[in-house]
Amino acid sequence: MSSITQGSYPPVLQDAEKERLVQVVKDWTVAHGLTVRPPPAIAGNDTEGILATSAPVTLFPSPFPKSCFEEAKAIQTTYNELYALISQDEEFLTEMVKEVAGGDEFIANLWNVHLRVKKEGYVQNLALGLFRSDYMVHQDDASLQIKQVEFNTIASSFGGLSTQTSLLHKHLAQHEYPLLSSSSSASNLDLPSNDSAAGLAAGLRAAFDAYGSSTLGHPTCVLFLTQSGERNVFDQRHLEYALSSSGPNKVPVFRLPFSDILTHTTLASTPTRQLLYTLPSNPSLVFEVAVVYLRAGYGPGDYPSQEAWEARYQIERSNAVCCPTVLTQLAGMKKVQQVLATPEESNTNSVPSALAKFMPPTSEKTQRLLKTFTNIYPLDTSSSGLHARSLATSPTQCQKYVMKPQREGGGNNFYRSAIPEQLAKIPEEHWNSFILMEIIEPPALANSILRNGKVEVGGVICELGVYGTCLWDQSSGEIKFNEEAGYLLRTKGDKSEEGGVAAGYGCMDSVTLV
Ligand code: ADP
Ligand code: MG
Ligand code: MG
Repeated sequence: MSSITQGSYPPVLQDAEKERLVQVVKDWTVAHGLTVRPPPAIAGNDTEGILATSAPVTLFPSPFPKSCFEEAKAIQTTYNELYALISQDEEFLTEMVKEVAGGDEFIANLWNVHLRVKKEGYVQNLALGLFRSDYMVHQDDASLQIKQVEFNTIASSFGGLSTQTSLLHKHLAQHEYPLLSSSSSASNLDLPSNDSAAGLAAGLRAAFDAYGSSTLGHPTCVLFLTQSGERNVFDQRHLEYALSSSGPNKVPVFRLPFSDILTHTTLASTPTRQLLYTLPSNPSLVFEVAVVYLRAGYGPGDYPSQEAWEARYQIERSNAVCCPTVLTQLAGMKKVQQVLATPEESNTNSVPSALAKFMPPTSEKTQRLLKTFTNIYPLDTSSSGLHARSLATSPTQCQKYVMKPQREGGGNNFYRSAIPEQLAKIPEEHWNSFILMEIIEPPALANSILRNGKVEVGGVICELGVYGTCLWDQSSGEIKFNEEAGYLLRTKGDKSEEGGVAAGYGCMDSVTLV
């Protein structure tokens, strides 16, 4: 398939058809937990916290090139391996942190947590990654290729809602699209299955099982660290439910706000520093935490005080398997992605030495990863950095780029004309805390987005995420579990730069393969 041909797909809806479809989607989403807590503008004064609303979603699955979809899924376990290796290379990460920490206090503080634990000695060798590699389709003259937007190593979200979105579109394809007056273009959709919720739960389960039983005689549990006021709570609940019912023996799962870590957890005074969680609703119940899953702690907002850093330190130095550890979180820095992708100045055709450090440069696996890279530059004083600085400060050249700090969660990047404006505000010695990336421009598509009860029709841009789960032993380097774990399709209006669903820019979608 050399292009995404849409023809008359998705079909144009008559008003009455749109009304019917919207009603069906509104009800199905609530009935199946494809939901979020409503934004304050809609929630009003929902002081009891009883309201839920449909997550923003497309009325039709978006066409996605089959070859691109299959390639993204096929290389996920290689990406898992690569990031497991990076997480274990402290020397490499030291270099990366050195590059950006001068202008980035958050990264410096994270690094400091690692250094403190390293000094006394880590007690847990296992580390768990629930990753998500994000791509957009790039159209070269003749072919369509996936290009990586970023690789997430912490709080990779929407795996719970994504399974439900695939099921929603399957339901519509079976029961609703055939009723449309121009239904033919929406017949014969190719909707792949999507086990993201079960896949991510299987990763957590593998870590839980590998931890083993408590030597202190407590029941073991998995602890989800969350943000207070999280609106995307049902996404997390889907993982929790999938996890607690996975396998023969049940897994107790608890949610704890990141800000309450020091109130409800302690470390056992043993050489292995087990993490103990006292159930606030019944303090006679004490659990030993086998796995800590962070859906918080990825940005400075979660660390308003030194106490929050002490909380992260308590987790990191404990015997619980961390998803992620501080080092794995740092492996997800945009700086790391840039260094993996920037070729040596002397030979722009060679495999970048940072990538070659982790993967055999001539292997087929490495070549396949390499094909997903797009141009990313440092903004330092190396020769590619100086070249990038000239692009970033030029009013015309900057139009092709996005500038990114070392942040997660959406809403942090600077696009096109905003780049020179932003650089003008930052002392030049701190420019190297950012990277400059070519903007990927996927082929134009059309779809309808249902958001807060309103339908937005028009041009859209799709971003595919592929989940991966990986459990490894940092002392031996052994990879104990490595799986591809389903996908996410997020779609945004083509006038919007950012695409995060939680950040309010994008919406949930699923693929129909073309
Ligand atoms: P975050 O970690 O905050 O999610 P991303 O690097 O994913 O940061 O950027 C946020 C969004 O910005 C992406 O979801 C995508 O919509 C857009 N974006 C980022 N990089 C690019 C790029 N190179 N080309 C096109 N869009 C991009
Ligand atoms: Mg992103
Ligand atoms: Mg990210």
